[in-house]
Amino acid sequence: MSLPAKKAIQVDDSITHYVYKMLNHEMILKYDESKCIECGFCHRVCPVTVSIYDEPLKKTAIGTPEEMRIESDKKIVVDTEKCIWCGSCTWICPGYTLELLINGENKILLVENGSLPEFEEEVRTLDDGRKVRKVVDGSITITCNEKDTKIIDRYVDECSVEAMSRDGKDIIVDKDKCILCFKCSEAAKNYDNIEVKVFRDRFKKVKGEPSSVWNGIMLRVTGVEGKIKGIMSRSQNKLADAVIRLMGKELEEKEDT
Ligand code: SF4
Ligand code: SF4
Repeated sequence: MSLPAKKAIQVDDSITHYVYKMLNHEMILKYDESKCIECGFCHRVCPVTVSIYDEPLKKTAIGTPEEMRIESDKKIVVDTEKCIWCGSCTWICPGYTLELLINGENKILLVENGSLPEFEEEVRTLDDGRKVRKVVDGSITITCNEKDTKIIDRYVDECSVEAMSRDGKDIIVDKDKCILCFKCSEAAKNYDNIEVKVFRDRFKKVKGEPSSVWNGIMLRVTGVEGKIKGIMSRSQNKLADAVIRLMGKELEEKEDT
């Protein structure tokens, strides 16, 4: 009997496979860095964490090297010791950067068993050919008191979906292009005279009736800046437990058939 094995395999310059292998069951979380827009949704949706809003403990199974406190020159890294291969990051990824392969098949059990709803696709192609989709609705406000246009230009370049531009000393956001991600608000921490508020009010166009795990995930993604009221809050560990239970149930059902 082979023991479970977890490892990261660098397939080429851009693609990394994060592999979990047990007996004849193999799960691969595939990350293609060339498509990654560094939006930060994967880090927020990952159910494995201590507490994402508690700065000293801020860590999930996926995120930037800085968020994960892992030395790497990649945009995003996965901690294979923590990852449960649930596919939540794959499900939300606006950049089609992540894929979950279960025994070679591209699928997410949590979507198949109805725990996570499907997004209705609304794909946009960026100038460089990358595909991107919007997963939340909401709004963004940017207050710019910076007078140095070079600094403003540098800040505008932080947006990897070409949604920001400079008009004199103002920053303009194209609402049709903006995906309400975490990139510019995180970057603004390094700019003294620029302040950003992003409100992620709701998930965009979803199909299906989500389970209560969905509520927990919704809260995680909309976060303290969200305006959603009255949704159920779960502790992070309970959320991870619920996800594992849902996946376990699915695997048991498969073994019974
Ligand atoms: S959600 Fe996808 S595109 Fe966004 S940072 Fe994570 S891997 Fe990159
Ligand atoms: S402008 Fe919108 S898409 Fe661009 S980094 Fe900010 S939130 Fe993300």
